[in-house]
Amino acid sequence: MDATRRLPLFDIKAEQASFAAELRRRLDAVLDHCQFILGPEVAELEERLAAWCGAAHCIGVSSGTDALLIALMAEGVGEGDAVFLPAFTYTATAEVPLLLGAMPVFVDIDPHTFQIDPADLARRISAVRDAGKIRPRALIGVDLFGQPADWAALGEIARTADLFVLDDAAQSFGASFHNRRLGTFGDATAASFFPTKPLGGYGDGGALFTESDERAALYRSLRSHGEGTTRYEVLRIGINGRLDTLQAAVLLARLTQFDPALAAREAIARTYDRVLSGLVEIPRRVPDSTSAWAIYSVLLPDSPTRARVQQALAAAGIGSNIYYPRPLHRQPAYAAHHDGAPLPVSDSVSRRILALPMHPGLEEADITRIAEVLRSAL
Ligand SMILES: *Cc1c(COP(=O)(O)O)cnc(C)c1O
Repeated sequence: MDATRRLPLFDIKAEQASFAAELRRRLDAVLDHCQFILGPEVAELEERLAAWCGAAHCIGVSSGTDALLIALMAEGVGEGDAVFLPAFTYTATAEVPLLLGAMPVFVDIDPHTFQIDPADLARRISAVRDAGKIRPRALIGVDLFGQPADWAALGEIARTADLFVLDDAAQSFGASFHNRRLGTFGDATAASFFPTKPLGGYGDGGALFTESDERAALYRSLRSHGEGTTRYEVLRIGINGRLDTLQAAVLLARLTQFDPALAAREAIARTYDRVLSGLVEIPRRVPDSTSAWAIYSVLLPDSPTRARVQQALAAAGIGSNIYYPRPLHRQPAYAAHHDGAPLPVSDSVSRRILALPMHPGLEEADITRIAEVLRSAL
């Protein structure tokens, strides 16, 4: 083992070697046919991804954020609508309802799995209904860090409250819940192909999955400026939200190695669990699920300890990062839209959480070294 090798948080370059030949072949094919917008690779990727996760339809779009946006646009979500989502997530989840004039309603998370807390969701729906100012309309359930949310509980609550269910699987495409891969748990599922996500491209990209033929047709129209049966028939207000052919080509190449990459991430997570348990709080698994392990985060006792650990890791050439240093209700952009309900778990976790390197190239010795540095700083 090289005890001084730098260990970045993510390592996109290292993964490239496993599908380099297929990548060149795919890129050459696109350079040859030059159909850079909605070329044949986009349709091929859509078919493969739908088959891979068992969804009826997949629609390639320009980013995970645009996938969320298109899904809410298709439902006509807007002014007067309450959209429930976790306070502890990436900004894109909350940005999208506000762009459409709807109101995000922040829900707290489970302190051990970091996933949206179904019991708090139920409380928040009742509170919004009782207050009578906005109408409970949609749930954006986030599958955080690679693990799935508790879709059994969320689905039940959403059905009872008659909410449109959008699964934000931006970080977790590749994970499964109750032996089914993510892609069919919501009325629609959004994936992101941002380079550092488990199935990342080499630029922005995303996808929508749905079981509904009507929704699939709407999503295809909305991603192309609301077009009808011909390109110059405009049926509705849409966006330029298409997935690039070049990104689809990259993803088709990467997809050939997705299963081994997921298995490697799982093995790394287990090694982390083993060497870190007793030292720090390790992430608890969602029962009866598999994770895509986008991010492996541990909990430190408090924020001064976390700062010390982060410094020691940096000094040893080991990457780390805080997802997320502020829950969304404490962000300047969102604070004014928060109704003031307490979100104690999101607050506490944001002060104590720390992400450690996670990518398929990590070796057992690397993880042992990370644990040693962490131990010395506690
Ligand atoms: C990355 C991410 C998004 C947005 O995906 P982009 O492809 O970057 O637009 C949305 N939600 C969550 C939870 C994410 O992590």
